[in-house]
Amino acid sequence: MFKNSLRTIVILLIAAISLTVFITPPRPSEPMLWPVMETLEFIAAEPRPVESRHLRSTEVHITQRLVEAGLPVYVLEHHTTRRGEVSIRNIYSYIPGTTGQSVIFIAHYDSVPGSPGALDNGAAVAALLEIFISQPTSLQVGIQLLFTDGHEIGLGAHEFVQYHSYLLENTIFAFNFDGMGNGPLMPFQGGIRHGNILFEASSRPAGFSLLAYGVALDEWHFAQGGIPAMTIMPFARPWNYHTPDDTIENLGTYTLAGYIDTIQNLMEMASQAGWIEGFSTREKTFFMPVYGMLISYGPVMRWIIAGLMIAGIIAMIIYRRSGSNYRPFSQGRWDVNVKGIMLSLIGTLLFIVLFVGGTLLIFSLASNIGLLGYHTSIILTSSGIILILIPLAYYFLKLITSIAGWDSFALVMAIFLGIFGVVAGVLMPGLEYFPMICAGLIALRVAKPDSRVAYFFAGIIAGVLFLPLLYIMLTQLGVASPLSGLLFALFIPVFYVLTKDYPSVYGS
Ligand SMILES: [Zn+2]
Repeated sequence: MFKNSLRTIVILLIAAISLTVFITPPRPSEPMLWPVMETLEFIAAEPRPVESRHLRSTEVHITQRLVEAGLPVYVLEHHTTRRGEVSIRNIYSYIPGTTGQSVIFIAHYDSVPGSPGALDNGAAVAALLEIFISQPTSLQVGIQLLFTDGHEIGLGAHEFVQYHSYLLENTIFAFNFDGMGNGPLMPFQGGIRHGNILFEASSRPAGFSLLAYGVALDEWHFAQGGIPAMTIMPFARPWNYHTPDDTIENLGTYTLAGYIDTIQNLMEMASQAGWIEGFSTREKTFFMPVYGMLISYGPVMRWIIAGLMIAGIIAMIIYRRSGSNYRPFSQGRWDVNVKGIMLSLIGTLLFIVLFVGGTLLIFSLASNIGLLGYHTSIILTSSGIILILIPLAYYFLKLITSIAGWDSFALVMAIFLGIFGVVAGVLMPGLEYFPMICAGLIALRVAKPDSRVAYFFAGIIAGVLFLPLLYIMLTQLGVASPLSGLLFALFIPVFYVLTKDYPSVYGS
């Protein structure tokens, strides 16, 4: 009886912890928040499709702000027939630098028809404009500002790079900002090579990098023109992307504060001489799909972790060969003990070390032999790595459960993942899916060990939660990231196999 109550308490506890991830983090107090908000309110008052009235008002608003600040303004008009007969007007400004070099910051200021485009892309435009205006007049590396028109119909950046390449002769880097969802800013394209730049510049770094050939993000045209470039965008929770609901009300202040924080830091960093040399030699930021975040390691740490992983595998092989008669599963009782919990804890930590180490090892090898190109997707590559690591993960988790007992292991894993989900939810909202789903599945399996229905219900919840992500990958990226979807789908059978020996009948 007591055992069942304990089980219920654990489930309720995990459920309660899980719910806290949906608590909105406190509104960050940024001094720039109000000027940015004021500009954004003007921009996102109405939709701004190509050649629309409000797009022209936005152009006037932007150019006036720049003129008032005493900055040069060029409106670069292009009449094109590439996407039907239209005229687009890119807005360009700059602050010169003493070294003659410069870094360009880009955002498109048009929107899709019918959408006020607060997130796509009013927020980035407002933040870039106001932060650009607030820059000191004397910089070491100059800052160029480009607001492109016609992005949503595949124009703007292409025209700028093609017809105004002379403006890019001394440009050493291009940062493009675009908005898709609410949440942390992530390196979207070019992130594999330049993710560490964002990591250094953001107070709240998070990461994603997707293969996106053929996606008309503005950064791509600059990369094609030979300029190192990356797109940075909030990507999680894309519920209002390209809809009439992309309004200021639905734009998280967290997202806006993230733009302000990141753009301020990037401009400060980019305007100092020598920054790019420092970064190009420092390849140390990696995206960890398992944990949904960017992590940063120096090369020494990378090899230490990889070494630990190899040692772990060898130890595992030796252990398995020596044989063990331990009976893995108790006869249907909620079997949690201190020893099991401690063993699970150590096993779980070791598991994380192995997973991180394995990913980094394969990643290091792949980049050392030149397998990873500019547009290579980190998530695609990591998904591939994980596919290799899944059998290893499976045997390792099975080993932990057999030593510590499934109940103790499940409790430790669920609490572990629950805590990680809370941290992710508060610090990087939008990235709490993965740990939360895993914790939920484990909790459900503990609560209903004999119910396949409960198990598949959990699988459906997982599917629904991942659906927006998969939707974006499939519709926006074509077939760019099928392996990511496969990775998520694979989690369910792996989990099922892992827990299939769990007693189907438990006593009371
Ligand atoms: Zn956009």
